[in-house]
Amino acid sequence: MIILITELGQMSNKNPKTRLYVSDPLKAGAVILIDSNQGHHLVNVMRIKMAEYVSLFNGSEGEWLGEITKVGKGKAMVTAREKIAEQSHEPDLWYLFAPLKKARVDYMMQKATELGVSVISPVMTARTNLDKLKIEKLKASAFEAAEQCGRMSVPSINDIISLDDMLKSWPEDRALIFCDEVGDAVPMKDLTSEFDKWAVIIGPEGGFTEEERKKIKDHRNTLPVTLGPRILRADTAAVTAISLWQSFFGDWKQ
Ligand code: SAH
Repeated sequence: MIILITELGQMSNKNPKTRLYVSDPLKAGAVILIDSNQGHHLVNVMRIKMAEYVSLFNGSEGEWLGEITKVGKGKAMVTAREKIAEQSHEPDLWYLFAPLKKARVDYMMQKATELGVSVISPVMTARTNLDKLKIEKLKASAFEAAEQCGRMSVPSINDIISLDDMLKSWPEDRALIFCDEVGDAVPMKDLTSEFDKWAVIIGPEGGFTEEERKKIKDHRNTLPVTLGPRILRADTAAVTAISLWQSFFGDWKQ
């Protein structure tokens, strides 16, 4: 009976509810320090105890069962025990956006991560409403969302780039879905492209200027898309565009 309970106990440990994104290499026996905000949350909020289990992922070496081998003040040591899932990746969709007010940027990092984008790239436009962009804070929002939503990768978050530089350095083999509330754009479902790499760009609350719209539309990789007859707020447009893309081209397609 004890063996049965132990087995059951072990089995439930095989799928811990707490997932931690770490930047350390993961292999059997690796000892990882969980400190700063992550450690505070684990010890003081989740109240993790010795010999309990969490799962660890670093975006490239799969998901590992981690045993809590030390608990301190606001930090803990975790020892990787065994791999419990092979590495999986999200579809290759970049999300480009003109930064919004701080609170909404954190929200967007979360939503774009949950919806499975691979890269998040802030773009400076004429009407960008820029509170100082703290890239480390954006990463923290994205990493927390990745832990919560079960994805085994975290989006790469780029430094802010000007629209001109972004267009000048645009990769030859990547489609740029231009969410355009003004022009003669097509619905996402009617999009066709020779490319198998994709990106979606959403403008600032004040919209792109006429000059910016022309520059984007003139780029050879641009595909203008409409998100319907109503003007959506930039964060609504982003969630809508990424969701539509996932449905038609990404990993929501059955
Ligand atoms: N120019 C708008 C404000 C821009 S909305 C206004 O007149 O108030 C912010 C961004 O969301 C836009 O730049 C666009 O990229 C996207 N967006 C909003 N509604 C859209 C729609 N119906 N179709 C396509 N894109 C839309």
